[in-house]
Amino acid sequence: MLQPVSSQSHESARPYRIGSCPQCGQSVRLDETNPWRPFCTERCKLLDLGEWFSGSFAIPSDEPPHGDGSGTR
Ligand SMILES: [Zn+2]
Repeated sequence: MLQPVSSQSHESARPYRIGSCPQCGQSVRLDETNPWRPFCTERCKLLDLGEWFSGSFAIPSDEPPHGDGSGTR
């Protein structure tokens, strides 16, 4: 006998709220199935954050600088 997993059984026919993404204006689900709410995707969320930080969160570069010329050779 298989017991249905409770987390999957009530996914359909459940009312959910729809909103619009503050970043791109697309329709988004505003419930726990959308981890990026009220945004539609992670991308939009990051874009919005990017506006807040206004560039201070630029892509971090992990590359160490090459020889800086301080070494004696
Ligand atoms: Zn969006």
